[in-house]
Amino acid sequence: MSYNAAMTDSEPMLQADLAIIGGGAAGVLVALNALRSATAPVQVVLFEPASTLAQGIAYATPWPEHLLNVPAGKMSGLPEQPGDFVDHLLQADALPGLPRDVLTETFVPRRHYATYLQHRLAEAQAQSPATLHVVHVPVIALQPGTPRNALRLADGQQWQSRQVVLACGNSMRPLPAPGAEALPPGRVVDAWDYDGVRLLAGDGDVAIIGSGLSMADSVVALATAGHRGRIHVLSRHALLPLPHAHGGIAKFDPQPLLAMPLRARVRALRGHVRDAAAKGIPWQGVMDRIRPLGQALWQGLDAADQRRFLRHVVRYWDVHRHRIAETVHAQLAELEESGQLQRHRARLDALLVLESTLQLHAHGAAGGLPPLNVGAVINATGVETRALAMRNPLLQQLLADGHARPGPHGLGLDSDSAGFLLDGQGRPQPGVQVVGSLRIGTLWESLAIPELRTQAQQAATAALRRHDQRS
Ligand SMILES: Cc1cc2nc3c(=O)[nH]c(=O)nc-3n(C[C@H](O)[C@H](O)[C@H](O)COP(=O)(O)OP(=O)(O)OC[C@H]3O[C@@H](n4cnc5c(N)ncnc54)[C@H](O)[C@@H]3O)c2cc1C
Repeated sequence: MSYNAAMTDSEPMLQADLAIIGGGAAGVLVALNALRSATAPVQVVLFEPASTLAQGIAYATPWPEHLLNVPAGKMSGLPEQPGDFVDHLLQADALPGLPRDVLTETFVPRRHYATYLQHRLAEAQAQSPATLHVVHVPVIALQPGTPRNALRLADGQQWQSRQVVLACGNSMRPLPAPGAEALPPGRVVDAWDYDGVRLLAGDGDVAIIGSGLSMADSVVALATAGHRGRIHVLSRHALLPLPHAHGGIAKFDPQPLLAMPLRARVRALRGHVRDAAAKGIPWQGVMDRIRPLGQALWQGLDAADQRRFLRHVVRYWDVHRHRIAETVHAQLAELEESGQLQRHRARLDALLVLESTLQLHAHGAAGGLPPLNVGAVINATGVETRALAMRNPLLQQLLADGHARPGPHGLGLDSDSAGFLLDGQGRPQPGVQVVGSLRIGTLWESLAIPELRTQAQQAATAALRRHDQRS
């Protein structure tokens, strides 16, 4: 539905200076930066349908077995205070008995991250001349405009705001099998339904579709909840996430990689891995060396090489780049060795309901697999990155009305180098900025906290600057 078709005259227009759409980690970091930097009574409004802020998908899990994928020392939300998350853990005595140096290197439960951001937001709110108003309703339409953008909410509220930041984050891919959405509730559970996954634990067999980080979450949750049945993991390449390692960072100059085409880069990286290994440094040290260059590496590839990367390299890149704690990796390996976890390199074709079981039909390179009968299926296919497939009414409205266009290769929404949304014709919209995973097509590395904290700070600074210029 277009924005105008959704409008009514009956609702009054509510006013904001800065409207942030999405109250996951990224949106909260934008609000936090705006509150901390404001020198005038700016009205910040955060739109988030969930009742709790800063959880989004990643940090909504209440379960202690779901760990951050990076050590606490790298998870500060504030670029200028790298130890801030660890400071919070110590102040809150979140993990009693662990001294700072140990905490810095620890993969702590993810739930602490949401609490951290909530605390910092409350502190900033108490001290800022700016005000924060949270509206727990999704935004379903946005009409960019100068000097004000117009927003429509699912309950009919209408808002106007000088600046808007889109921080809508991640949405789950549907199961890649025809008719999967019509299956009985409780038999197909999203990996991000953290309680729902645990409820599947028992004697029956379970299948997980997808073999990435969400699969790891589901397996450790099932194991911790006492699951005794088999866990079938199905994915097209069946590559499991690899572990972090303690071996230091490889010492080489990564800059020459930026000028190389994809094939030469892969060769050069293999060479760096061999050199590092000769010095006793694991391959993870090479990945850590190039980690800060993630965006530059993507942007340094021409369009043809980016396509080649997406077609041939990305699945290997992902398991090397998005790693898990060694303890989690060891748990997966142990379950696989015992035979409880079984990996299938296969593509799901169909899911059939047979009285009390679900039957999975899949095929691999050598043809059809014998059907698998399971009690339930977990959808761990991960984040939807293709703009046109994102099931978010706001994003579809922006695309349909020509206020946005898909990013390079159809990934995320297109934005300029400063993060301003590009409209259907590629013109920047000066009142609308984008942060987080929606910038994947342009930046590639735009999902994890190190990128989000920088983008959030930049977005808040730009919004306040524009506010100051106009007032
Ligand atoms: C399982 C998992 C584990 C991860 N672990 C780590 C980790 O250890 N370290 C790390 O750095 N990164 C990790 N990440 C990456 C993670 O995505 C980011 O760190 C961060 O959580 C992303 O936050 P976000 O706010 O961009 O997105 P989300 O967390 O997806 O939040 C987006 C929010 O926007 C809201 N929203 C969407 N549409 C609308 C709308 N139309 N109107 C209003 N609100 C809307 C949603 O309700 C949601 O709350 C992990 C990701 C996942 C999925």
